[in-house]
Amino acid sequence: MRTAVPILLCELCDAPHRLRVLPVGAVARCRRCGHRLYAHRRGTIAQAAALTLAAVPLFAAAHLLPFVRLEIGGREQGTTVLSAGFALWREGMWWLAALVLLLMFIAPLVRLLAALHLLVPLARGRRPRGAAATFRILERFRPWAMTDVYLMALVVAWAKLRDLAVLEPGPALPAFIATLVLLLLAEARLEPLAVWEQIAPQTRLAPGTLATFRPVACPHCRQVLPAEAEGRPCPRCGGRVYARKPDSLTTSLAWLLAALFAYVPANLLPVLTVVWFGRASADTILSGVVRLYASGLWPVATVIFLASIVIPIAKILVLAGLLFEARFGRPQHPHLLTRLYRAVDAVGRWSMIDVFVVGLLTALVSVGRLATVEPGPGITAFAATVVFTMFAAHHFDARLLWDRAGARHVHPVRRIAAAPGA
Ligand SMILES: [Zn+2]
Ligand SMILES: [Zn+2]
Repeated sequence: MRTAVPILLCELCDAPHRLRVLPVGAVARCRRCGHRLYAHRRGTIAQAAALTLAAVPLFAAAHLLPFVRLEIGGREQGTTVLSAGFALWREGMWWLAALVLLLMFIAPLVRLLAALHLLVPLARGRRPRGAAATFRILERFRPWAMTDVYLMALVVAWAKLRDLAVLEPGPALPAFIATLVLLLLAEARLEPLAVWEQIAPQTRLAPGTLATFRPVACPHCRQVLPAEAEGRPCPRCGGRVYARKPDSLTTSLAWLLAALFAYVPANLLPVLTVVWFGRASADTILSGVVRLYASGLWPVATVIFLASIVIPIAKILVLAGLLFEARFGRPQHPHLLTRLYRAVDAVGRWSMIDVFVVGLLTALVSVGRLATVEPGPGITAFAATVVFTMFAAHHFDARLLWDRAGARHVHPVRRIAAAPGA
């Protein structure tokens, strides 16, 4: 009998692969769709744990110390990192305030605590209590932790205010940037499969038994399970197992339609009103971009144009196309569609820039009667559009494209491809 080998299914196209020991630093990609399967990193958990530990004091400093100080006409205004959220709260925009605080503070904090609870003991060879649940939380919050987007929004807010006021960075700003860099490095160093492997090893199958085994991949931890496991909790991570995301197309379509409805008021209503020495002017997303171009700030104008106009429209169109192909089409180029899906899923969060900019401007510019910035109703609708398209992308199942693609693209299920190093 031939020896059993550990098996992995591609998350995006379901093609089965044999897990091999790769050279250090090599990345294994799916033979069918090109999606990244796993990488070999030496000391992945220890390095990620060390980077996360180093980020803790900086994270505290970034959120407690003064962030930016602003001076207009001799009057000063100080802020902390969290001021953007609280300023929206004061303006009565609870929904938006809660969303901003969730994305720029709560989600990163939850990820930091989960990483500490899990990675530090694992790095020392010990398995902490609730390891599987903790790692699922860590992975689940990944797209919602938007510290990087928030920093970009700060650059935009800075550029907008440059000529109007004196801005002075506080000690929290370098701490905030350092936290972001350390946590991004920790994330880049961490190989999720190595963590799951420590919690419970990947299923091994003898070559040739795959067809009778009819494998299903756990959507949370990628454990390979027999078809009967569908609908039951995964033995490794406890999450519910399904071969395809349940009601993927209808749920995704519902969120997409909701996004489309929210996108109309998002563009027609003002996103912010600036009162400057008694004169008030309101801007929509588009007029804001035009104003930025007119004042010569074209790099910032381009960033906002891409993030607030191009990305949401492209995302809505691409998702609509993918939903059509997955429901009615016979995709000729499923590789290309899968790649498009990966792209819209990855860039969607950057549309949040404008929401953070409005929050930051509201927090920074409230200098009595001299100057204030008030958020407009359009920004709430815009934030809803971004969140709804993120939900729509999350619920879409790219494997349905391969299911529809037909025989030409069917993977030889009896043969398990060895994932090539790239
Ligand atoms: Zn694939
Ligand atoms: Zn699982």
